[in-house]
Amino acid sequence: MNELKKYFPIFQKNPKIVYLDSGASAQKLQSVIDAMDDFYTQTYANIHRGLYKWSEVSSEMYDAVREKVAKFIGAKSPSEIVFTRGTTDAINLLAGSYSKLLMAGDEVIVSELEHHSNMLPWKNLENEKGVRVKFLPVLGDGNFDYAWLKQNVGERTKLVCVSGQSNVIGIKNNIPEIVKIAHQVGAKVLIDGAQLTVHSAVNVSRDDIDFYAFSGHKIYGPTGIGVLYGKLDLLKQMPPYQLGGDMVESVSFDNVVFKEPPSKFEAGTPPIAEVVGLGVAVDFLMNIGMDNVEREGAELTSYAIQRLSKIDGVHIISGKDSNSIVSFYIDGISSFDVGTLLGSRGICVRVGKHCAEPLHHRFGIDSSIRLSFGIYNDETDVDRFIEELEKVLLLLR
Ligand SMILES: *Cc1c(COP(=O)(O)O)cnc(C)c1O
Repeated sequence: MNELKKYFPIFQKNPKIVYLDSGASAQKLQSVIDAMDDFYTQTYANIHRGLYKWSEVSSEMYDAVREKVAKFIGAKSPSEIVFTRGTTDAINLLAGSYSKLLMAGDEVIVSELEHHSNMLPWKNLENEKGVRVKFLPVLGDGNFDYAWLKQNVGERTKLVCVSGQSNVIGIKNNIPEIVKIAHQVGAKVLIDGAQLTVHSAVNVSRDDIDFYAFSGHKIYGPTGIGVLYGKLDLLKQMPPYQLGGDMVESVSFDNVVFKEPPSKFEAGTPPIAEVVGLGVAVDFLMNIGMDNVEREGAELTSYAIQRLSKIDGVHIISGKDSNSIVSFYIDGISSFDVGTLLGSRGICVRVGKHCAEPLHHRFGIDSSIRLSFGIYNDETDVDRFIEELEKVLLLLR
């Protein structure tokens, strides 16, 4: 058994369940649950407000996680880390704020494989601002068409917004190449790191990434917390997205002075306990080492691909470099029937379009079945899945 499984209480309570849907949300570490519980029962108070012990401790814990996250993704300063509700919220913050700096006719490039949360906020600017959205094509093997990108960026290109790793096919994209091409025309780059963050080491400074977003719940932390990283000089230029408490330096009836980033973007009481939980999840991953996580993930992925590809009629749409995400469909058989029958046998997989409908159109399929692995999965989970899949296919064929 995978020795990391013991840190996740849900598997102790449900030893028969095979959970292969961490790409939708990962299971929770006991240490994350305990830290949030301790926080609520021992020192809870609002942050940056009270002059008493509990508030001071809360504020210190909250601010310490910002430093931890900065280190985790290689940011130069904790001021570049904005806490949000998740990846979706982070990208909406960026689109809502950065759009004020854009003009009609400016272009945003997103790829064909984006999750809807890195597509719809940008599409919305077409109507609202007259911004043009162009789609970076995905080639048949699942990789971006980098030659297209080179030819299609220009002086009107202001942002290139793409995922670091696809949530459908699990291929890691070439971030240094994307950044190089975008920066040649002065465009900024947003990397949607919702998947990449949990499977690979990330370093926003080394890769010169301008904006980076991810969610706590996909890295074994709580729901309701995520991060928008932005280079400090860019965050300074951006107007606030929401307005309210704890984000202003001074307010009079005539004038408002906003705080510096990141506070400028964190109006109102933040999800304090969730930030505390996120910090524990980040510590856990840093202790294991993301390079180790990536290597184990790659090994399990190639094992799953090797076993799946022996089953008649299975078409795998992930590539040989996919990490921890394997999607496929089966000739003549409904993905939903497979998913439902697997679910009734305690095998949790995701079925459908995985919030990336345009990519399914691109591949000419209407749905797929996705396995996605977490650090608690191992070959026995894949074996159980294959065993049940074979039984299910006998029923359906
Ligand atoms: C899950 C996911 C999102 C959305 O994250 P939320 O936590 O639901 O806001 C965005 N992009 C990718 C690639 C994802 O996998």
